[in-house]
Amino acid sequence: MLLYNSASREREQFVPREAGKVSMYTCGPTVYHFAHIGNLRTYTMEDVLEKYLRYTGLSVKRVMNITDVGHLSSDGDTGEDKMLKGARREHKTVLEIAKYYTDAFFVDCDKLNIKRPDVIEPATNCIDEFIEMIETLLKKGYAYEAGGNIYFDTSKLGKYYVFNDFKEEDLEVGVRESVEEDTNKRNKADFVLWFTKSKFEDQELKWNSPWGVGYPGWHIECSCIAAKHLGEYVDLHCGGIDNAFPHHTNEIAQSEATYGHEWCKYWFHVHHLNTNSGKMSKSKGEFLTVSLLEEKGYDPLVYRFFCMQSHYRRNLVFSWENLDNAKTAYNKLVSRVASLTAAQDETVDAAAFEEGKKKFTDALDNDLNTSLAVTALYDVFKLQTNAKTKLALIEDFERVLDLGLISAAEKINVEKKKAEADATPGVSEELLAYINEKIEERREAKKNKDFAKADAIRDELLSKGITLLDTREGTKFSIS
Ligand SMILES: [Zn+2]
Repeated sequence: MLLYNSASREREQFVPREAGKVSMYTCGPTVYHFAHIGNLRTYTMEDVLEKYLRYTGLSVKRVMNITDVGHLSSDGDTGEDKMLKGARREHKTVLEIAKYYTDAFFVDCDKLNIKRPDVIEPATNCIDEFIEMIETLLKKGYAYEAGGNIYFDTSKLGKYYVFNDFKEEDLEVGVRESVEEDTNKRNKADFVLWFTKSKFEDQELKWNSPWGVGYPGWHIECSCIAAKHLGEYVDLHCGGIDNAFPHHTNEIAQSEATYGHEWCKYWFHVHHLNTNSGKMSKSKGEFLTVSLLEEKGYDPLVYRFFCMQSHYRRNLVFSWENLDNAKTAYNKLVSRVASLTAAQDETVDAAAFEEGKKKFTDALDNDLNTSLAVTALYDVFKLQTNAKTKLALIEDFERVLDLGLISAAEKINVEKKKAEADATPGVSEELLAYINEKIEERREAKKNKDFAKADAIRDELLSKGITLLDTREGTKFSIS
């Protein structure tokens, strides 16, 4: 599979370090509030990537952290602690806030068919590991103590700015948000590994460390949690594009300084979900959550479908109108799937199956082109083959797209049958199923211009007192 690697800025053949096995790391949520659907776009596309890797036969171990400590309101270590902010807002403890929003996050993921990672690790579980890595960095001369805090010394690295799109100017965050610059730093890009002299006297969660009571910086957690579960090498690291700098840049700095070798080979970054007024964020405009989508009558899987329709490296523009279009298309797709009924004697046509599948894998092999994969899904209906093969292809694609098409279609068919049964009181379900099967067989026969067979089916039913009547709305029947 060709995958764009943000570190090399090129599409590369994805080859895991160990044949057949992928170690995958995903930056998880900071659990101080509900996730907005912009964040969830990232997790949705990562989910498709993971499922596609599995689909191609690779085994994947995916690890995700949960940030429940240390994330300040700016990613550049300035501003307020996000968890404290959440706790204050809701008059709860930090741990209560963390538990509540972690659960809420996974409820949203479930609704969007986002598989849970194999390992989910809260930062507060790993304080010992953080201290150990910080000690190594101090010993190796990559970190220093100043004003009570421990900082990473970015000048000690041969190359700090890994993601070439970012440079020194991007560090002006502090200035922009009118927060005083940290005078303890030796270099502008240096970042905190461990806080002891925080300006936040009321920090709720604190731990003992060799440098005094305090708490970890945000970036250290991902380096350590990845190491704890994946070892010294990671094949694939995922996250939103806004995490590329400084967060991922700092993760690389810490890990590579610790190990003295390349740490993670492939970097997968999902771009922003924008509204017409710019990047979606929690503080700006309507706070768009999965629950809000549901309140407004959208199945969360319509949002998943909406995400699939565009490439992960393009900004996607959200509007209610765009979501409505996705909803209409999704519902149409479901009813087309529902109308596929395979006759009992049908078998999967291997050549047609391969033809359909190739389009799908070609699309995803090309830097996870989900919009072309969706086109491949539409193309299934155009294939010159039987319903059984089409259904088999759709089921196969759903291992990756996971749009809930089959179950939604089944639901429609069950409702349809129920409506029919209600309209023909006194007819047993069994008899109704028999008649419908015969009607379908006859429709197929007529389609194939096998009129002799079609007539034979009609006569067979007639001999049982069932009269067929062809109408514009399809074939109806009466029982005498
Ligand atoms: Zn991270």
